[in-house]
Amino acid sequence: MRRKGLACMAAQAVESATPAPSDVSLGPAAALSCRECGERFPLGPIFACAICFGPLEVAYDLPTGDPEALRRRIEAGPHNIWRYAPLLPVPPDVAARPNLNPGLTKLVRADNLARELGVTGALYVKDDSGNPTHSFKDRVVAIAVEAARAFGFTTLSCSSTGNLAGAVGAAAARAGFRSCVFIPHDLEAGKVVMAAVYGGDLVGIEGTYDDVNRFCSELIGDPLGEGWGFVNVNLRPYYGEGSKTLAYEICEQLGWRIPDQIVIPVASGSQLTKIDKGLKELIALGLVPDRPYRIFGAQAEGCAPVSRAFKDGHDVMCPVKPDTIAKSLAIGNPADGPYVLDIARRTGGAVEDVNDEQIVDAIKLLARTEGIFAETAGGVTVGVTRKLIEAGLLDPALTTVVLNTGDGLKTLDAVAPTTGPSAIIRPTLDSFREAGLA
Ligand SMILES: *Cc1c(COP(=O)(O)O)cnc(C)c1O
Ligand SMILES: [Zn+2]
Repeated sequence: MRRKGLACMAAQAVESATPAPSDVSLGPAAALSCRECGERFPLGPIFACAICFGPLEVAYDLPTGDPEALRRRIEAGPHNIWRYAPLLPVPPDVAARPNLNPGLTKLVRADNLARELGVTGALYVKDDSGNPTHSFKDRVVAIAVEAARAFGFTTLSCSSTGNLAGAVGAAAARAGFRSCVFIPHDLEAGKVVMAAVYGGDLVGIEGTYDDVNRFCSELIGDPLGEGWGFVNVNLRPYYGEGSKTLAYEICEQLGWRIPDQIVIPVASGSQLTKIDKGLKELIALGLVPDRPYRIFGAQAEGCAPVSRAFKDGHDVMCPVKPDTIAKSLAIGNPADGPYVLDIARRTGGAVEDVNDEQIVDAIKLLARTEGIFAETAGGVTVGVTRKLIEAGLLDPALTTVVLNTGDGLKTLDAVAPTTGPSAIIRPTLDSFREAGLA
């Protein structure tokens, strides 16, 4: 049993789980199944297997029949993640409910960046800063909100490295839930303001994200937390499914084709794991041709437990105490780390990390080549892409998609010290001439 930390939290949560209403209906979602032992459980607000404490995930009765018809149905759907509702744990009428309708963000062909990186194949940036609260987290929250509704929760909550808190606050405001979210007290101002502005409660906790997460697990097991849906704890199996939409969109935007290589940031590892799940579903449904693909994980050197385990050839990770400007990825004990390792190894990918200076350089590189201002997590994926190419691990001749999962405006501090006006002048032509910029 390699998931000791999670097991302790799991025991608590399993005991305290409220029974699921018998009429829970979440579209094609049939049950929850254990990733470790395969045991199935009815849909409910539980996240760990009662038998082996392994993490639960959503199992489906996916549509059967003509892939061409399904493809046409998706293409005719709403211009957001709900076009994929037949493949998600949401009610069929989800698009008509009050939610933030994230997704269908731009897949940008990045020829300038490709030239700088020595990439000769097609290079794309999937730019998820275009979501309603400017990070990929709107995708996962949108699904968790539907589960929270189905299970009768009245308060939405989460433990967050920053972006999730804002996404939950906004989604709760729109969908009519109370919200109370928890973050490490020392996050970037942009993240704190984004988490508070939607009017819910925001609590800063003196500690790291891992402390915040432990606190939330205790709260779930306590009467204080009754009626609370923690999107990334007791609603985690549903939440995780939102990341599949990144896989669906990338493939649809490439003309229903899987790219050869995808570079994905890793915090808890949920996003990377579920992108792989999404790709496998597309193949199983006949929506894309079955071909090999490589998945690469990207971390910051100051919080690189998965990258270290990958390089050391280990299946288990040593938890670390994060120290990096990439705060949205600063999870020292990533719940889905072992699955990230499995996927990177199985697909012929890798997990790599970059230091803070390389993150800042990569943010600026993406900005100056493609006009995309990424948050530090985007600096991590672009920086890691560069490093993987130099190391010969990522093939520059193939089609590659690099994820930018958040907006640079939320992490201004990362670039502010080395970015600013080229000159400050008096409003005269002489003064401008002297500045030497003409
Ligand atoms: C949360 C987050 C991720 C990935 O998180 P996982 O826990 O690995 O799913 C990536 N980028 C940003 C900007 C995030 O906020
Ligand atoms: Zn199990």
